[in-house]
Amino acid sequence: MGHSLVLLLAIMGWGNGDAPFRHADGGAVLMPATAACLDQEARARIRQRLQPYLQAAGKERGESPPALIYPVRQNPAFRDLHFWVITNYVDHDPLFPDMLADYQGGERTYDTTAGYNHAGTDFFLWPFGWEMMDQDQAWVVAAAAGTIIGKDDGNFDRNCTLPPPNPDWNGIYIQHKDGSVAWYGHLKAGSLTEKAVGESVEQGEFLAVVGSSGVSTGPHLHFGIYDAADNLNDPYRGPFNQMNSVSWWLNQPDYYLPAIVRLMTHEGAPSINSFCPEDEIIDRADEFMPGDRIHTSVFYRDQQAGQITDLTLFRPDGSTFAAWTHDIPEAHLAASFWTWFWDLPQEKAEGAWRFRATFEGQTMDHTFVVGPCDELFQDLRTDWPNVTILAMIPLAFCSR
Ligand SMILES: [Zn+2]
Repeated sequence: MGHSLVLLLAIMGWGNGDAPFRHADGGAVLMPATAACLDQEARARIRQRLQPYLQAAGKERGESPPALIYPVRQNPAFRDLHFWVITNYVDHDPLFPDMLADYQGGERTYDTTAGYNHAGTDFFLWPFGWEMMDQDQAWVVAAAAGTIIGKDDGNFDRNCTLPPPNPDWNGIYIQHKDGSVAWYGHLKAGSLTEKAVGESVEQGEFLAVVGSSGVSTGPHLHFGIYDAADNLNDPYRGPFNQMNSVSWWLNQPDYYLPAIVRLMTHEGAPSINSFCPEDEIIDRADEFMPGDRIHTSVFYRDQQAGQITDLTLFRPDGSTFAAWTHDIPEAHLAASFWTWFWDLPQEKAEGAWRFRATFEGQTMDHTFVVGPCDELFQDLRTDWPNVTILAMIPLAFCSR
């Protein structure tokens, strides 16, 4: 996506009952269209370079289209349940500006006043994409087997303003057996596979790390598909996609994939005031003292109105410290987060607490520790027969 990402901040005082509930704070990531993922000149240069391969592949046409898988995978060193959201699909409405139709007829896409209609699917890292990029957490993998027919590397990969000083992205281009080509763009500099142009890759093989090179305002993958005649394709099957009659996905994922992406606790409110790396405030904390103020947050993918989240904070003894529900007035938020803060009690606070959220049939727990870790660990060992599960938690969380 080449548009600026704007954070909507909402301070909401909605409370419920007698829970010691402070306030909700959070927002959604919105994407007004201001620039193309790839500017016209850069696109033309890439197509020029790929031309010889497209012509050479002509004789193999007649092969069926590839059965694609989603081209993002988590580095196995990380354990987040989810780590990306789709922020844009292909725009099938040729008119502009603000004339939008994704493959379902929705508006999860963008165009520009200059006449660019989004020409791919954007997988946006969420939440805290810069941290993920720095830690190589999100890998770009081959959506289908094929041959590398182009690689671009060495371009600055921390762009976060538009227009960027250097509009060229780091990209890799894979040609499939039927002559179609997949474009993978905005890659992290220096992260590309060592395989050279002409070498083949398997489906699911590592290609690069998701980055923010080129016309980009935050780490994301732009995934575009062109057929053997170099026409844009959209792999999704849907009523507004006239480009193909069958899905090119092996198993086409749903249009909405609602999920809790992450539960976290923080010592201060997390913030993503803009999408530049230095503005990403995480303030992650999993160890607190009695009386501390604690911020609890939930990060969502495809959150929709009416999808109620049940939230609970459990004290170490398993009793409920607070229970509340959460919903949004907006019809759909592709990437959203909500934060509530609390003052932990002075009494009976020490031990392993649990922050639990249940959303769309998914229950996720986040554990944090209150009290001096050394003592806590001792206590739990003493009580071992009754706290076999909790006893493991301080080992993992106490860093002292
Ligand atoms: Zn894009």
